[in-house]
Amino acid sequence: MTHSTNTDQENCIFCKIVAGEIAASKVYEDDETIAFLDIQPVNPGHTLVIPKDHFENIYTTPVMTWMRVQMTAQKVALAVKHATDADGVNIYMNNEAAAGQVVPHTHVHIIPRYNDDNLTLWHGTAYKDPEEMESFADKISTELKTEN
Ligand code: AMP
Ligand code: ZN
Repeated sequence: MTHSTNTDQENCIFCKIVAGEIAASKVYEDDETIAFLDIQPVNPGHTLVIPKDHFENIYTTPVMTWMRVQMTAQKVALAVKHATDADGVNIYMNNEAAAGQVVPHTHVHIIPRYNDDNLTLWHGTAYKDPEEMESFADKISTELKTEN
């Protein structure tokens, strides 16, 4: 399966971190994943977990690799919470520019949160009516039935 071109990987800042070509504050490493501090943290201790291999986003990351990223994210989440004395932790991921992805190498954000950090997440808006909600559920479940 082709996930990306060599050019993508050569220009990829996270591949360079994996290769040790640029510095990072690494907090964890195993055979498939690494975790390091985000240079522009939402709160100090904000950590990124990535697969060592280059995949652009969640769609193209093989499921076993994704599983390993999640295993590392679970470990790191608790370590970040304890180390930063956080009241909670957000785990999130941006996929594609429209969702705010800037670095096109699969990564999960682990962000320590505090009761009083005043960071507001986006707010939900109710569906127009139950039929509209049901139509989205139908469309998504139909997609899931046709996905291979
Ligand atoms: P995203 O918007 O999900 O693509 O997030 C990319 C994240 O990578 C941002 O939060 C950046 O601050 C972070 N970042 C970019 N370059 C580096 C780097 N060299 N070392 C650590 N974090 C980085
Ligand atoms: Zn990469």
